[in-house]
Amino acid sequence: MLTRRGIAVSPGVVIGPAFVLGSEGFRIPRRFVQVDAVETEIARFHAALDSVCEEIATNQKLATEQLGKQYGAIFGAHRQMARDPSLTGEIEELIREKSHSPEYASCRVLRRYANVLENLGNQYHAERAADFHDLEKQLLRHLLGESREELTHLTEPVVVLAHNLTPSETAKLNQHNNNFVLGFATEVGGPTSHTAILAGALEIPAVVGISKFLSDLSGGETVIIDGNHGRVIIDPDEATLERYRDSEARRRTVAERLESLVSLPSVTLDGEPIQLLGNIEFPSEAAHCMNRGAAGIGLYRTEFLYLERNANPTEDDHFAAYSQVIRESRGQPVVIRTLDLGADKVPGFSQQLFDSAPNPVLGLRSIRLCLRNLPLFKTQLRAILRAAAHGDVRIMFPMISTLLELRQAKMILGDVMEDLEEQGLEFKRDVPVGMMVEIPAAAMLAEEFAREVDFFSIGTNDLIQYTLAVDRSDPNVADLYRSGDPSILRMIRHVVAAAARNNRSVTVCGQMSSDPKFLPLLVGFGLRQLSATPQTIPKLKEVVRSLTIEKAEEIARHADSLELARDVENYLRGELQSLCPDSVI
Ligand code: PEP
Ligand code: MG
Repeated sequence: MLTRRGIAVSPGVVIGPAFVLGSEGFRIPRRFVQVDAVETEIARFHAALDSVCEEIATNQKLATEQLGKQYGAIFGAHRQMARDPSLTGEIEELIREKSHSPEYASCRVLRRYANVLENLGNQYHAERAADFHDLEKQLLRHLLGESREELTHLTEPVVVLAHNLTPSETAKLNQHNNNFVLGFATEVGGPTSHTAILAGALEIPAVVGISKFLSDLSGGETVIIDGNHGRVIIDPDEATLERYRDSEARRRTVAERLESLVSLPSVTLDGEPIQLLGNIEFPSEAAHCMNRGAAGIGLYRTEFLYLERNANPTEDDHFAAYSQVIRESRGQPVVIRTLDLGADKVPGFSQQLFDSAPNPVLGLRSIRLCLRNLPLFKTQLRAILRAAAHGDVRIMFPMISTLLELRQAKMILGDVMEDLEEQGLEFKRDVPVGMMVEIPAAAMLAEEFAREVDFFSIGTNDLIQYTLAVDRSDPNVADLYRSGDPSILRMIRHVVAAAARNNRSVTVCGQMSSDPKFLPLLVGFGLRQLSATPQTIPKLKEVVRSLTIEKAEEIARHADSLELARDVENYLRGELQSLCPDSVI
């Protein structure tokens, strides 16, 4: 039995056989081919190369459409590299002269090119070296017919163990698999990475940031994923299995008790309503959210429309997705956030493109990307405005850092309304417009921003990342990523106060609001609306119903007097335990 620790990102426990997704390395089964098969092998190499070039061309087309010509050109350069006659000539020569297999020959040649560039020791050449590594991987995928897509061929329930899962891979996990993915664990990943958030959306237990452990496994071993405590147990002994089965039974009892709260109102003991909304990534989650007792959708992360498919969604695709969410939200409010692509949320087809940004988290992402690519942005805005005619829709812009950016986004929204008007299409004009407060600059200028928007939604995931300068997806600094840091509390207070002075509504939609121990604090700060992961809503409601506003304010005051995140979080944990003793597992 082997226990590895990581970061718990989606609760629950699952036990199942391990399905190990190879890290980036491919196994090359044979180094030599029969001399009389050389010509056939050369033809096989060229067929693989043609497929790779076709793939690059498709990605080039998509990137050009979505992001503009200059980005498409990057793929053009990749295609040229793949077709370079001296490179392909060298590979062919190794197959012909040394009877090397195309797999082995491609690796040798491409790795040599990459090594030469890497040894030049500068950033530019290191990035070009990465292009050769990419080409090697693409070629091997075609030559070996072996790819990470093997995950789409599951025939039985498994626990997925991987070095990394990108958000787009995670989004597709159960799409083709009849829900056979019971849970997952990864070597990398941070506490509020989008892969972690998606695990919550898919409602499968997950642990990330375990660091190297895949070499201990070959697949098929029994594995426990403990998403409550961040543990992965390989080959558990009988006593451990028994213990986990017991704790699962206890968790089910708590879940059943919480289920009985679904139809009860979310009000404090002294009668103050606290609106609990749901965060969703996929349209299908809307109904699920409402079934959990949500009062609407507080955050719809629309970029997942791009991450779960291999082509750009059309205006009709957007419209269909938004209409489904509106329909299934049964007349409750739906906050549709405009595209927040970039950083770790990158469509598979343009991965290489975003990878080349020196610091993607601070780079061309989210609203910045939309403002530079108006066709992309306008397509989405048209669909939102058209769908808004059928429900209580609000539009929210992500990653706003300056007033100018907000004004540009609103101006484009106005232009889109005029276009729709001219075309005589049905749409809603008076849609409330809000913004995420997730960059410290926006939090500091909350007073000014409040005059120009209808509502704020505090995105603590990014706000913490940017305030504390801690990458939210990096497990090496996960211990420094603290929602309870006094700087974060002070910023939230500041934003809530600015919203109140300007009579604007404000919510918190980062993962902080899905953690029940922060609920009394946030209510004590004056928040009356929170948007959380759907599966946590019943638990949050239980905390609301055991709280008075006076108690919440007292908790907030005391938390404010503490100097360390650790002390704030321990204090809040203790308070939660005394408010809801049965709920903490
Ligand atoms: C946030 O940053 O808190 C947020 C809700 O947005 P996302 O997690 O999608 O970046
Ligand atoms: Mg964010």
